[in-house]
Amino acid sequence: MKDRVEFRRVSKDYDGIAVVAPLDLSIAAGEFVVLLGPSGSGKTTLLNMIGGFASPSAGRVLIDGLDVTDLPPARRPTATVFQDYALFPHMSLAANVGFGLRMQGMGKAERQAKAEAMLELVGLKGFGKRGVHQLSGGQRQRVALARAMAVEPKVLLLDEPLGALDLALRRQMQEELVRLQKRSGATFVHVTHDQEEAMSIADRIVVVNKGRIEDMGPPSRVYLKPASLFAATFMGESNVLAGRVTESSGGEIKVETALGGFVVPGQACPDASVHLVLRPEQLQLSRPEQGIILGQARVEELSFQGTHCRCHCRIAGQDLILRAPVSTGLTAGQVVTLHAALGDVVVLGD
Ligand code: ADP
Ligand code: MG
Repeated sequence: MKDRVEFRRVSKDYDGIAVVAPLDLSIAAGEFVVLLGPSGSGKTTLLNMIGGFASPSAGRVLIDGLDVTDLPPARRPTATVFQDYALFPHMSLAANVGFGLRMQGMGKAERQAKAEAMLELVGLKGFGKRGVHQLSGGQRQRVALARAMAVEPKVLLLDEPLGALDLALRRQMQEELVRLQKRSGATFVHVTHDQEEAMSIADRIVVVNKGRIEDMGPPSRVYLKPASLFAATFMGESNVLAGRVTESSGGEIKVETALGGFVVPGQACPDASVHLVLRPEQLQLSRPEQGIILGQARVEELSFQGTHCRCHCRIAGQDLILRAPVSTGLTAGQVVTLHAALGDVVVLGD
């Protein structure tokens, strides 16, 4: 697939402080990319450099191979749904949605027809004459989306567009966004700090931390085989065992940890400090075919989560979170042996 958006050694400083480190990033045509990271990590800055609302301190931004670094937003094939999705309160919904088309010089009748069609696309058929104040938060959000999509951007930029919505509505809008994206064929770049949202909508997640890309890939790969400790802990919960490599040969390393030594697949120099990372659902109560024994754990606390039990366990002063099937009937104070499959252990450096 050809690149729709390309960052070439793009960086951004504000007052001499680097908020985006020099980075490369390619986004394919028709891809749904999510920029995921904590507040202040540089997500909005990255998005704004695609849309033209921020200009890089160095490097070039290309769209469809064309250097757009010096083009203003209106001359880029992009549209943005901002975090506060400000609609024009004094205009009808149809006028709101048709705003960009008016700017492009489209005639009134055509504009109105297009606005109605866009409203229908976001599930607000026949709402064109209504006012903004007559809408719920979720409906306003959809109008903002319709407005951005009306100009048929090649790239739609979405900055935490669902942040203000309650959980049920957010889930519904996530599904609708995915549907809209597939139907329109546009490239979506969506910013969020919510890892569950990122996993449920992205073709590819870009994990951002302190202006750097920590990891990027399909949600399942980033979740199961995170490339960095930050990615492992930000994308859902992880158990992290700090250790030191004592032996290394033939694709296997021995790592000394607070729980003892473990031989696991991996490559690292002897004496290197590493971390063994396991997801809560990867800790097992029975022995897997090829696995390691983590040790005898005491169940300190547990909470019923409906689909599973979340147990806080401890082995030799090390805290571990276990996600156990409800059917195991664990109780606080119980001592269990925890195992992990070799294939699940991720070895990461500092
Ligand atoms: P995010 O969207 O991930 O929360 P931002 O891209 O908004 O992060 O901000 C990244 C960093 O850049 C933050 O430290 C923020 O304070 C800083 N920053 C963003 N915009 C400006 C600006 N216009 N002037 C100065 N600093 C800014
Ligand atoms: Mg932001």
